Amino acid sequence: MYNDYKCPKCHGQLRLGDNIILSAIRDDKSRAIILLHPELGNYSADYHPATKFEEGDRVIFLCPICHHDLSSTKHKNLAMVIMTGEPGKEYDIYFSQVAGEHSTIKMMGEHVELYGTHSEKYLDFFNMSQMH
Ligand SMILES: [Zn+2]
Repeated sequence: MYNDYKCPKCHGQLRLGDNIILSAIRDDKSRAIILLHPELGNYSADYHPATKFEEGDRVIFLCPICHHDLSSTKHKNLAMVIMTGEPGKEYDIYFSQVAGEHSTIKMMGEHVELYGTHSEKYLDFFNMSQMH
């Protein structure tokens, strides 16, 4: 299944090839481009070697097209983008903005689907039933 990802603000396409391209801003205000894997639950990420991330570092992901802050309203540690794939279906995808934290939450109507070993810690903020 091929999935595309869109900015919730400008609806610009964030996926090119096998990367989701995001802009990131760090606590020290420095900025970087980060490439994420488009498969949910795959946490490989690519960025310039001059950009160093320590476990627990928090970034704010921005849309690289319109620079909208992708931080979600559910929790400040989670960013949100829209995933499309099957015709007519859109999902809200929440993922962690904390380095080393493997949390991805896919929202489908009344249900959520969890990916990554740390996603349950955010489940309370979704107030919904969990689907396995
Ligand atoms: Zn945008």
